[in-house]
Amino acid sequence: MKLLVERLTTTPKELAFEGDAAFWAESGGDDELAPRPLRSVRIQLRAHKMGEDVYLEGEAETELECGCSRCLARYRQALREPFRIVLEPASGRVPADPEAAQALARDGVCLGDELDAGWYRGSEIDLRRYLREVVALALPVQPLCREDCRGLCPHCGADRNVETCSCAKASPDSPFAVLRKLQVERGD
Ligand SMILES: [Zn+2]
Ligand SMILES: [Zn+2]
Repeated sequence: MKLLVERLTTTPKELAFEGDAAFWAESGGDDELAPRPLRSVRIQLRAHKMGEDVYLEGEAETELECGCSRCLARYRQALREPFRIVLEPASGRVPADPEAAQALARDGVCLGDELDAGWYRGSEIDLRRYLREVVALALPVQPLCREDCRGLCPHCGADRNVETCSCAKASPDSPFAVLRKLQVERGD
């Protein structure tokens, strides 16, 4: 996922990268419940230079298999994450953060606190770590199979999307919950 700085001009250059399983393993974590890609990550990138600054923008895209954080069902979800970053030459500067300094020496690029700015050095920029970060931050933190997933009953473990168990009184849909909600709305 390398970018040759001297080949860039003011006209955006289209590039495409593919993130394989190894790329994913570096960004997705190996937690059993973590979202898994069903195919490689496709990265479309447009790069241009304005003065000495390098402008990158594009999109990372794949399809995920996620585990619902409420009912544990596996389901598919598209991942489509736009990104944009401006890199300015580091020149003689050294990042205060030792990890960033290391990245600048190794990859020719280091990132700022936000993912939209950074520094580069030299003629070749390795974007792998940056793109990994983009994908990692795009992963759903609390995956839901659908917005209104009712989850599992905390008492008997029944999937409340498909059945109503006899512990139903404790569910938020019970008459008591409705009554409480009404009281809140009326303000008494
Ligand atoms: Zn669910
Ligand atoms: Zn139950």
